[in-house]
Amino acid sequence: MPIVCVLGAAIDKSDTEPLLMAYNASMSATTPFPSWLTAFTGINQWPGPDPPYIPLDFIDFSKIPNHGLRGMGVCPTTRDSCSFDCYKCVSYDDVYTCPKLSQSFDDGPSAFTDRLLDNLNHKVTFFTLGMNVVRYPETYLKAVQKGHLMGTHTWSHKFLPSLTNEQVVAQFEWSIWAMNATAGHLPKWYRPPYGAIDDRIRVIARMFGMQAVVWDYDLFDWRMETVPPTKTKQQVLEDARRFKAQGRGGFTLEHDAYASTVDAAIEVSKIYGPDQLTAAQCVDSFDYIKQYQEDDGK
Ligand SMILES: [Zn+2]
Repeated sequence: MPIVCVLGAAIDKSDTEPLLMAYNASMSATTPFPSWLTAFTGINQWPGPDPPYIPLDFIDFSKIPNHGLRGMGVCPTTRDSCSFDCYKCVSYDDVYTCPKLSQSFDDGPSAFTDRLLDNLNHKVTFFTLGMNVVRYPETYLKAVQKGHLMGTHTWSHKFLPSLTNEQVVAQFEWSIWAMNATAGHLPKWYRPPYGAIDDRIRVIARMFGMQAVVWDYDLFDWRMETVPPTKTKQQVLEDARRFKAQGRGGFTLEHDAYASTVDAAIEVSKIYGPDQLTAAQCVDSFDYIKQYQEDDGK
């Protein structure tokens, strides 16, 4: 099967429905909205799923390539824009594999992330949604304190290639502010929702100092949450054993958004074993753009 079909399946509507259910079930923001952010934005509460664009002086719109906008499941006719979701194209600074077989988690924090944190005995990478960071700040901080690497998965999980440049900036800036307000750090690593990335998105992210992290192995764990389910926990674990049996390194995509995927992830961690790396460790890089100290007056 051509890879474009595999990825097409990953971004069909069944991928978005469980996520929307997670949103509806979530509580409202609990991270206090910081005064420095009000001073900068003129806003005094965390935004909804369509965050406002706030201009930033380091975003140079003249340097952003114009590849046009495209919707979910729509691919460009040429490969000039280096789309990962359409053609599995990776750029020079994308992290797309790892020397060791390693787990990474998208879409959290959620009400189920705590259980995952209590059952992991190795470090992993979490790509968090800003909206969920401010809903579950204590869970986010617990992950940080346990030494896991925190990256961003944008503010509200939009299909980035369908957004204007300003909307893409807003998705990144609000997710970064959520992480900074909650844990005092600025992310170095991001994972585009649905793996939907091209050079327009990469150029914008690089202006924030961020690099993309994609994956080599997809466990499709979210298919346990489609209605009806299109994958069983047993099938997820069989895939994990198959990946492990290949004896190669690599990055696995999983989700900490549901009880079912967290249950499976705990079993996957036993199959892979504790000898895993975070995204930063995979490429011998650093964890965060900046980590503020308590007395930095943030
Ligand atoms: Zn996601």
